[in-house]
Amino acid sequence: MGTVITERVYGDNAEAVTEKILNRMHEIEDNLSINIRTSSISQMNSGSKGSIYSEEVIKILETAKRYSALSNGAFDVTIGPLVKEWGVFTEHPRVPAKQRIDELLGLVDYKSIDINKKENTAKLTKAGQLVDLGGIAKGYAADEAVNVCIQNDVKSAYINLGGNVSVLGSKPDGSPWKIGLQNPRGLEGEYIGILNIANKTVVTSGDYERYFVKDGIRYHHIIDPKTGYPSKSDLISSTIVTDKSIEADALSTATFVLGLEKSKRLISGLQGVEAVFVTKDKKVYVTDNLKKYFTFKDESGEYTYVEKG
Ligand code: FAD
Ligand code: MG
Repeated sequence: MGTVITERVYGDNAEAVTEKILNRMHEIEDNLSINIRTSSISQMNSGSKGSIYSEEVIKILETAKRYSALSNGAFDVTIGPLVKEWGVFTEHPRVPAKQRIDELLGLVDYKSIDINKKENTAKLTKAGQLVDLGGIAKGYAADEAVNVCIQNDVKSAYINLGGNVSVLGSKPDGSPWKIGLQNPRGLEGEYIGILNIANKTVVTSGDYERYFVKDGIRYHHIIDPKTGYPSKSDLISSTIVTDKSIEADALSTATFVLGLEKSKRLISGLQGVEAVFVTKDKKVYVTDNLKKYFTFKDESGEYTYVEKG
């Protein structure tokens, strides 16, 4: 998936389980990647109508549609044509002409994914549309990694799929896992705070991992489906803490696009979903139920923890 996987698995059969997890990750990538010609998603993107897909693919597409609707289209899984045009993941990223962006915006519309759950079929209804699961599938994969652990009687594990962290149980000594939150403007591994958690997932979207610079302007990889340009909300990082990583992944991307105020409202209406938002002016907001698990620890001295508000 173009990213680094870290697994810490404890128990008698830990080593064998790490292998099983890697095999499962390869299966998922083979099934969902837009970069693999034979994947289900590539098949769908190439205009196949009425193809039958695995329940896994149908479930992810449905979840993606649900979060697209919930976020009022800030997360839109049909963002593919724009991601491709910007080419952030290629050797030659570029700033597309405004006219081209406007043309492609007409293809971004999650509602036009036609899913038939009974028959496990799905299709895109407009020619040229592309599904891109980049904002949600690492979360699904993290959930599956945890499932492999549970199926193999593992009680304690830490899985990190390029920033999608899921933990099963607590650490072997019974203490909570400590998950560092990256300083969005610091060096890798410089934190602004620590989350002390067990049995949860922590997923962050930010503008600092994947980007290119052209004429002094930084262009990152999360596209605002309303404008077709890299999202320019007031957030520089958005972290979601909840039970299911697929949901956290979709919501981290959605909230990053929505910005602070709309995201606070969205999250407050969702049971069991908590968040840490970091704004451009370097303020850190933590949802109320998460505060007792969060330690503000800004090594740079540049951030302010907004404890009330
Ligand atoms: P997130 O915020 O979770 O997601 C951002 C990504 O979602 C963008 O990169 C884009 O793909 C998509 N997106 C952008 N805007 C929106 C929006 N408004 N709504 C919905 N989605 C949006 N990377 C490689 O370099 N090489 C690979 O071979 C490769 N293969 C992959 C295979 C799979 C199955 C998956 C899921 C990803 C793959 N990636 C690959 C992508 C890579 O891992 C990305 O960095 C990652 O998906 C982006 O995740 P994130 O956590 O950085 O950001
Ligand atoms: Mg995401």
